[in-house]
Amino acid sequence: MLTLASKVENINTVGKAIAGRLKKMGIGNVRELLWHVPFRYEDFSQTVPIGQLQSDQMVTIRGQLELLSARRARHRRLSITEGLVTDDSGSLKVVWFNQPYLTKMLKPGDSIILSGKVSGDLLGRQMTNPSFEKDKADTTHTARLIPVYSATEGLTQKQLRYLIKTCLPLAANIKEWLPEEIKQEFKLIDLALAVEQIHYPDNQTALEKSKNRLEFDEIFLLQLQQQLIRQTLKRVSAPPIKFQEEAIKQFVADLPFTLTKDQKISTWEILKDCALSSPMNRLLNGDVGSGKTVVATIAAYNAALGGYQAVLMAPTAILAKQHLQSINKILPASDLCYALLTQAEASLYDGENIVVVKKSELLKKLASGEIKFVIGTHALLQQQVKFANLGLAIIDEQHRFGVDQRKTLRAKSGDTETMPHFLSMTATPIPRTLALAMYGDLDLSLIKMMPAGRRTVITRLVDESKRTAAYEFINKQLTAGRQAFVICPLIDASDKLGVKSVTEEFDRLDKEIFPHLPVAILHGKMKAAEKDKVMQEFKDDKIKVLVSTSVVEVGVDIPNASIMIIEGADRFGLSQLHQFRGRVGRGEHQSYCLLFTDSHSPQTSKRLRVMTEVNDGFALAEADLKYRGGGDIYGTAQSGRLNQLRANLLTNVNLIKKARTAAVNILTADPTLEHYPKLRERMEEYDTSGHME
Ligand code: ADP
Ligand code: MG
Repeated sequence: MLTLASKVENINTVGKAIAGRLKKMGIGNVRELLWHVPFRYEDFSQTVPIGQLQSDQMVTIRGQLELLSARRARHRRLSITEGLVTDDSGSLKVVWFNQPYLTKMLKPGDSIILSGKVSGDLLGRQMTNPSFEKDKADTTHTARLIPVYSATEGLTQKQLRYLIKTCLPLAANIKEWLPEEIKQEFKLIDLALAVEQIHYPDNQTALEKSKNRLEFDEIFLLQLQQQLIRQTLKRVSAPPIKFQEEAIKQFVADLPFTLTKDQKISTWEILKDCALSSPMNRLLNGDVGSGKTVVATIAAYNAALGGYQAVLMAPTAILAKQHLQSINKILPASDLCYALLTQAEASLYDGENIVVVKKSELLKKLASGEIKFVIGTHALLQQQVKFANLGLAIIDEQHRFGVDQRKTLRAKSGDTETMPHFLSMTATPIPRTLALAMYGDLDLSLIKMMPAGRRTVITRLVDESKRTAAYEFINKQLTAGRQAFVICPLIDASDKLGVKSVTEEFDRLDKEIFPHLPVAILHGKMKAAEKDKVMQEFKDDKIKVLVSTSVVEVGVDIPNASIMIIEGADRFGLSQLHQFRGRVGRGEHQSYCLLFTDSHSPQTSKRLRVMTEVNDGFALAEADLKYRGGGDIYGTAQSGRLNQLRANLLTNVNLIKKARTAAVNILTADPTLEHYPKLRERMEEYDTSGHME
């Protein structure tokens, strides 16, 4: 007896080979098989008499197979199976390529159903490679809306359909976990029915209803999870850090520039949150160069003056060092002791200079509370690191703290009761709908405007015929002292680290285009230390042209770099292109971003041309949503959490809002979901299934 928990091997027709291929797609048991939902449908629901067929119609015909014969094409390695199908109204020729086994499955005289596209004209209509099956009431491949699944090598649509169809009766055993009142309020069908109908819908309406139900589930779970985090944080206490009004005002007045309005508002929102006795959980979102570091520094300075320590964690050692340097420029020469800790380096500000110290010394001063502000990498999460009284944790470019990171940090002050305040920073502009869907547990501070006086990066979509001219232009810039980035896309999915394309491009540029200049390469297969070394050399102007994959973090501030070349630009989202572009235009020189593409599609040019006209990262992110859907905005490098959601969900603001309201309501009434055991169980499953980073 098959159950939902049965391994796929226990399905009659599944042998080792098929089971292995299913596993590759994450399908180990019947339940997972049923949750492998189609990504589109073939509409074969229209049955038409042969005599009334029109060309280019997607149809189903029912008839008798009159003739069937297979032969080999003479000059090619191609097998051709031809048949003739007849009904009361006429006959139709049918051709299949490379399916010689058909003569064993079908015989003249069989009643069959064929679904596919009709081609040809009145003189000779035919169907080529149609789906077929013997006539019966409950069809799997023809005569209805037919599911199309993502498949894998060695596993055909036909096999998947057959397997899923076989197990479909078990969908009835899938337990409902949504409370009845929510189902009624949102007019949602039963979960079991939705799963059954998502594979073999009775009709379009039934399909819409099951899509609705399953999409609601996805959004609702996410919202519920986010609201749970919010609620948990509200119950936890955090040190209220008083707003040090006078000192902060002085600090802001002493800055070498005036804060933008958005910077001021963000700073104010952050300081206000920090003054509360429950932990801040805020995302500071602003384009590259919009001035997030200053805002973070003010928050850290305020914490230090209030008697607490602050930590700023960056994804790489180079970025951490860069933060230290910019913080060093803006923090007033005071007795405030701040430091840097990475895997390889420990240094601190001694009141005058930044000096290298022993790691043990730094750790001691952190534990004693002498160091007020520490900047670093994940090295800060190591066990030896202890704080005296951590009040504020800031994380750069990682979107959010995972629950484990929070716990680790919390434990470091030897205090398990209170939690520090949390601030995440990201330069990826997040459109409002996306923020609503994905970051419901975070409060948002936006820096939308750029500091005054920034030059915009001149962006051009360069035609292949102008490549040589473009290189001449670049060469002139390089000879005048500037530096250039070259970004290469991943050629194929198997080359996850992007070694292949970047190596080819590097060789070409190094040997043929810029043989007179130092060119270097950066890709995902290099060790962290190697990458850091190359970046440092580029920063020190020892390298003129840096050829890099998109998977490598190049978020380093190199004011002298004024050229950004992006190869295969069509492969990137606009937001991603904008991120790359943000690497130049950081210094006094006019900067340029040149986009190349092999694509000749007018749509692609239209999309890429947006880059040449729009400089606002938020606007580009919105445009991305329109052109490519939400899933693409963050590319492959982003957390699994985003990929869970299908793109169309992210643009469905209404659904998101409704799901959020439902989540809030249910948690307000029952904060621990005590009266909703099934929902709670589902949430727990959801939490551990990789949705939480
Ligand atoms: P982000 O981290 O958002 O990419 P940074 O904080 O590194 O941006 O700021 C980029 C540069 O702009 C830094 O050199 C910083 O000193 C400078 N800057 C920040 N705010 C302003 C401002 N309001 N006016 C002028 N320059 C600013
Ligand atoms: Mg920054």
